[in-house]
Amino acid sequence: MKILAIDIGGTKCSAAWFEGGAMRERATCPTDREGGPEAVLRAIAGMTRAWSGFERIGIGFGGPVNFLAQTVELSTHAAGWERFPLRERIAGMLGAPAVIDNDANAGALGEWKHGAGRGCASLLYLTVSTGIGGGIVCGGGVHRGADSWAGEIGHVTIRPDGPECLCGARGCLERLCCGLWLERDHGRPAKELLRDAGFVRGYVVDLAQGIKAGLRLINPERVVMGGGIALAGDRLFVPLREELERQMTRWSRARVDLRPAELGQDSVLFGAMELAAIS
Ligand SMILES: [Zn+2]
Repeated sequence: MKILAIDIGGTKCSAAWFEGGAMRERATCPTDREGGPEAVLRAIAGMTRAWSGFERIGIGFGGPVNFLAQTVELSTHAAGWERFPLRERIAGMLGAPAVIDNDANAGALGEWKHGAGRGCASLLYLTVSTGIGGGIVCGGGVHRGADSWAGEIGHVTIRPDGPECLCGARGCLERLCCGLWLERDHGRPAKELLRDAGFVRGYVVDLAQGIKAGLRLINPERVVMGGGIALAGDRLFVPLREELERQMTRWSRARVDLRPAELGQDSVLFGAMELAAIS
């Protein structure tokens, strides 16, 4: 089956087509956040122009999605997305049935089926990039919760007296640790900040608090972290694991198995493909 997968993120949009579960071609372009949904649709049309013959389309969207209703709820980082009929517009534009989910749920599915979470009975996936999202796999599939809002680890409170988050609360994990805010708060891109060992020592304290909340609630077999910030590798993962072990305390027997996403920047594309294949 020929499947088109689309990943719509806050910084970039990607598309790829798959056949027999393997990625054949891939394209990416920057997200025009100011341009809203219409600019994203034009970008998708541009990236996929030379491709055809898809039987299904899977979409991972970088914001809350109502999975049952198959609608975008909103985008935390860009205007014009509230209740936008993205799935219908993409299906109509490209001429194949489409299915949509939050990008972190898609990323969780991608890493579970094809990446660092293969074979795990339970998995917590985090994407740390422009924003922070989370996806939970348990009981043989993605756990989306009663309203499709499960796994929103980016809006777990880390510091109640911290700075205000785009969600309206204070001191959320996303507000303290995502790429967008790191750059705004420190005046340097996250990639550069993470090369500074002194910065990383402080950064991992907040990030570990968020992951700890997930470990305490779910006790997953593994935690997989993807997104642009996870590309920092051992410079981030070694101190992060140490901090997480410290915060979990000796009282806990819950495992701390934290690994970088194996599919790198393609976790969401693989997950969107899987979503289309099983729906
Ligand atoms: Zn928040």
